[in-house]
Amino acid sequence: MSKRDYYEILGVDKGASKDEIRKAYRKLAKKYHPDLNPDNKEAEQKFKEANEAYEVLSDEQKRSRYDRFGHAGMDGQQGGGFGGQGFGGGFGDIFDDIFDMFGGGFSGNKRRSGPKKGADLKYKVKIKFEDAAFGVDKEIKIERTEDCSKCNGSGAKPGSSKKTCDKCSGSGEVKYAQQTPFGQFVRVGTCDKCDGMGEIIDEPCTKCHGSGKERRTKTLNIKIPAGVDNGSVIPLRGEGEPGEKGGPRGDLYVYIEVAPHEIFERDGTNVICEYPISFAQAALGAEVQVPTLDGKVKYKIPEGTQSETVFRLKGKGIPHIRGYGRGDQYVKVKVQVPTKLDDKQKEILKEFAKASGEDAAGNKKGFFNKMKDAFGG
Ligand SMILES: [Zn+2]
Ligand SMILES: [Zn+2]
Repeated sequence: MSKRDYYEILGVDKGASKDEIRKAYRKLAKKYHPDLNPDNKEAEQKFKEANEAYEVLSDEQKRSRYDRFGHAGMDGQQGGGFGGQGFGGGFGDIFDDIFDMFGGGFSGNKRRSGPKKGADLKYKVKIKFEDAAFGVDKEIKIERTEDCSKCNGSGAKPGSSKKTCDKCSGSGEVKYAQQTPFGQFVRVGTCDKCDGMGEIIDEPCTKCHGSGKERRTKTLNIKIPAGVDNGSVIPLRGEGEPGEKGGPRGDLYVYIEVAPHEIFERDGTNVICEYPISFAQAALGAEVQVPTLDGKVKYKIPEGTQSETVFRLKGKGIPHIRGYGRGDQYVKVKVQVPTKLDDKQKEILKEFAKASGEDAAGNKKGFFNKMKDAFGG
């Protein structure tokens, strides 16, 4: 099969300018690109042909040789695919154009890795019960990567300078050719000479060895809002590890651990506590001072209060973390049985028992009779 004429393939005449050739190729490459024509053998072939034609006609030397000798002049230079060399010219540029046309990349061709957000950090902070209820300002120290304090993040020894990477001309990326069944593609990769930074440091900073970064302890003041609970998480945007290539810092997540309280327990926004009262207070009623998060409050225990009775102090609980208002405090009364009685107290209690109709064992007559009935005793 005789080879088609390169000018014919691109649809331009022999006197076509570089620009015309470029435009013609762009049009064809876009039309026949395999990504846009999956499983289309004809398009594949046309795409390959156009690539080959453009590679020759875009290169002044190759074009003039082709003009003089035709396909015969291309032997050894050319053959099926591309030689892998002589790849200078405008090829890279035109692929850039096509990349742009397709909005950033063909499949398998990853274009420049862009800015990347830094890693998130976690920190656990322990606070008091009362601080969880009412909020607190806390100073925390986290270790994270910061700009080197000696070179201010440049990585260069103070007084020395950086220079533009000669391999990638400062772009941080290099293009290289890749053979595929459809012809040759240009891949874009990170420049290995400058590691994608685009700059080379002549004399690295002695403290950070050129990285421009160092681990440092950073002190942060955080506001812990009223109403947080054990396990609450406070996100601090942008306080994590630094990003890459100009990307933003990650976030810092502060985990709250609330220390247990000596007398209060918490159930959501409610506070629960037990309150001991004496037998006499329970029987006769009394005005007592109950501890709350706001200090002591007066409460009137009614006459004849049983142990385990719960009463509620409205609005004495924990503030709602989102919204307003507070939970309640529930106070469970515990009647204390006296353990050390002097003779006089014992005498009075025995009198009391007799007056209440109890036998010597302390059983009430009514209950004793019921037990007799139940067990036939
Ligand atoms: Zn470079
Ligand atoms: Zn440094």
